[in-house]
Amino acid sequence: MRVLILGGTADANRLVAAMADDPRIDAILSYAGRTENPTPPPVSWRVGGFGGIDGLVAYLRAEQIARVVDATHPFAAQISAHAVAACAVAAVPLLALERPPWQRMPGDRWIEVDDLAAAAAALGATPRRVFLGIGRQHLETFAGCPQHAYLVRLVDPPRAPLPLREAEVIVARGPFERAGDRAMLRDYRADIVVARNAGGHAAFAKIEAARDLALPVVMLRRPVIPARPKVETVAEVLRWLGHDGTPAERGV
Ligand code: NAP
Repeated sequence: MRVLILGGTADANRLVAAMADDPRIDAILSYAGRTENPTPPPVSWRVGGFGGIDGLVAYLRAEQIARVVDATHPFAAQISAHAVAACAVAAVPLLALERPPWQRMPGDRWIEVDDLAAAAAALGATPRRVFLGIGRQHLETFAGCPQHAYLVRLVDPPRAPLPLREAEVIVARGPFERAGDRAMLRDYRADIVVARNAGGHAAFAKIEAARDLALPVVMLRRPVIPARPKVETVAEVLRWLGHDGTPAERGV
């Protein structure tokens, strides 16, 4: 069975690792191409957009894809919507692997907002020291708030100057540790954090660290994605694919 996995997340990597040795599944992992050196997966892989819904339909047909698993980031709304539309046209079953959003806990000081513009506005007029944990493509919005100083964590070193007047860059790839993120926020003297409600473990450290330091977090709510069948764990995806590997794999 040929399975297309829309990836770019730790969940997608765990999924392909679990199915790599199943001879009945011929998995192809698809990366958007946002990071320069993606971790080479243990299955076939491809890089780059498909060319919209029509391009994805053509790909599904040309590659004779039998099932699609959307394991992209919860904020990758466009590719997820394209997958819903393209799978409907090509009559290919689709399942989304979507980790649950983080829930507010005692001690959290979240300011929840719906989009980046609202996040930038929530920082206010008074100059602040801001940790931006949101990814390189989304920095432009904060160029409109030059009164703040920013600490930005990126997967790759920036090739061009950031669109921010005052910014420090940390180049690092998750998963991150709570103590490390606490030290990072303290060293920078951050007084607020901007984050997307990604869910999962890899990026949660900054949220815990902000709680430890009693810092407010401007938390972006998830974008709305068209209805599709979805599960929260790798094990459930494996069951949907009829994968009956080892108990350890099933318990991933
Ligand atoms: P997006 O806005 O939903 O997608 C924009 C376009 O990029 C899509 O229309 C599609 O182009 C292409 N694309 C996105 N994901 C793709 C994939 N897995 N394979 C092939 N093409 C893909 O997505 P985004 O917010 O730019 O995110 C892009 C990728 O980065 C996603 O795969 C997402 O999982 C990953 N990501 C990872 C993290 C993380 O923390 N691990 C965070 C953010 C994003 P076409 O229309 O031409 O097909």
